[in-house]
Order: sequence, then structure tokens, then C-alpha cells
Amino acid sequence: MERKQEMMQQRREAGSVASQFPEVENIVMNMTYNQHGARSILRTFHFTPGSYAFFIVNCLRKDCVDGGFDLTQVITTMIRNRRAEGKGTLICKGTDSSTSHSDIVYEVAIQYTEIAVL
Ligand SMILES: [Zn+2]
Repeated sequence: MERKQEMMQQRREAGSVASQFPEVENIVMNMTYNQHGARSILRTFHFTPGSYAFFIVNCLRKDCVDGGFDLTQVITTMIRNRRAEGKGTLICKGTDSSTSHSDIVYEVAIQYTEIAVL
């Protein structure tokens, strides 16, 4: 429970997409979440200017400690370079296990406002 509140606190501190990236109209993150020994799960996250600019996705493994997938770097780099599409793989950074127990294969699509294009 505490962990969840911490995440919410971080999210509030991140500010809105509009305040951080005024040139962004929306962001869609599609990912396939693969967990060792479990069925893959498709997850989609949609960000609008009013959303929090918080791009850390939690790990779904119950006993994962400090895990998750941080797409902050991916997304800020894409926006800086005005890239519309990006894809890649991230491994859970959880410290409970030396072997990687889960990973995501992500695709990010960003739409920019017309002002940014001009
Ligand atoms: Zn994990």
C-alpha cells in the first residue's frame, strides 16, 4: 500500500504532459508484458496533455521488489528529437531476483501539435 502511495506521489510531482511537453498532443504506449512462466499480457497506456507526465510502468509480478519499467528516458528522447515512433525492450529492474523474471516489448507513438510541426 505504501508503495502505491509513493508512486502516486511521484506521479503528482511529475506534472502534466502539457506543462512538461507542450508540443505533445498525445502519447500511446503499447507493450507486451512477458513474465517468466506466465502468459504474455498486452498493456496499453494513453497519455493526453492533461495526463501526468509519468512514464514508469509497474511490474505485475506480486513479489517483485522495486521493479518496473521506466520509459521516461525513451519518451523524453523521442520528444526532443521529434520522433513519432519508437520501439524496444526493457527488462524489469526489480532486485528480488538475479535472473530477469519479466520484460516488456514496447512500441511508443507520439503525436505532436501542429504548432510544433510548423
Ligand atoms: Zn519485476
